[in-house]
Amino acid sequence: METEKVKCLIIGSGPAGYTAAIYAGRANLSPVLYEGLQPGGQLTTTTDIENFPGYPEGISGQAMMEDLRKQAERFGADIRFGIATKAHLEEGKNKIIIDGKKEIEATTVIIATGATAKYLGLEDEKKYAGMGVSACATCDGFFYRKKVVAVVGGGDTACEEAIYLAGLASKVYLIVRKPFLRASKIMQERVMQNEKIEVLFEHNVTGLFGENGVEGANVVFRWNESDERRYSIAIDGFFLAIGHQPNSEIFKPYIDTDEVGYIITDGASPRTKVPGVYAAGDIADPHYRQAITAAASGCKSAIEVERYLSEKGLL
Ligand code: NDP
Repeated sequence: METEKVKCLIIGSGPAGYTAAIYAGRANLSPVLYEGLQPGGQLTTTTDIENFPGYPEGISGQAMMEDLRKQAERFGADIRFGIATKAHLEEGKNKIIIDGKKEIEATTVIIATGATAKYLGLEDEKKYAGMGVSACATCDGFFYRKKVVAVVGGGDTACEEAIYLAGLASKVYLIVRKPFLRASKIMQERVMQNEKIEVLFEHNVTGLFGENGVEGANVVFRWNESDERRYSIAIDGFFLAIGHQPNSEIFKPYIDTDEVGYIITDGASPRTKVPGVYAAGDIADPHYRQAITAAASGCKSAIEVERYLSEKGLL
């Protein structure tokens, strides 16, 4: 297998990975960054980012990630296509396999692999994958112009997707399992004020149906024995927005994760229990999960890498 030695390997290309690459590049660490399955990360599937400081008018997720990538390249980051498929983490002897065919021996590693959208776990989600089921409104919303869609979830993502889809579709059901939305106040207000969005509180989805794609969803209102009502709604598209699963599987044998899979770091630092290996962004953050917090932890990781290499006399 082809082997390459690098001083600083960054895995993942969201705001955490790119920010780490900007800092590591400016520190002359010749960082190599592998972009992973979704170059640019989750933000490329979002609409406008309105809360990143410095953009009074907001900026699209796609544009921001493009800018971050260019900025990292300007300082010498080597940004490549490729997915980390296997890992061995051990101080000074980290080995990461890319696409199952290339081995990178990395003195330091910044894990910024983010998280992936979760599904409800219904058989019908698989049955109708690509035929009406989606976990990305900005990717697939276009196909539902003047149609009826449902979004599941009550967080900021669900609200954002419902609002985005309301701009295209004729009607949007927002299916929320609790009697309230978990999203921020501003997003809640926007949802409640949007005439095209109907919020179905205390509803769960039990299945989907349709001949050649999704034509409807079976729902249950107040899912408990004493008080429930089962019925179906006619929809053309079914969007999941119920949170994410951290992409930490290949690293789990070597570092600590919580029960969900988020990497546990040393307090507020991005240090993992393997010296020289750091975790940045959503992979280590079950709490904040913002572009700005991910970028900040990418920055911290690159600073840690520089200090580590300097202490070891490897700069
Ligand atoms: P959240 O974890 O905040 O919300 C997930 C939602 O999905 C909750 O309402 C949850 O319900 C619901 N849910 C989870 N599992 C199921 C299930 N099996 N069936 C039905 N409903 C389910 O995830 P988000 O992706 O919305 O947000 C993640 C983070 O990113 C948050 O911190 C959020 O603030 C942030 N974010 C910020 C944005 C912004 O600032 N512009 C945009 C998007 C996200 P319940 O409440 O009952 O647990």
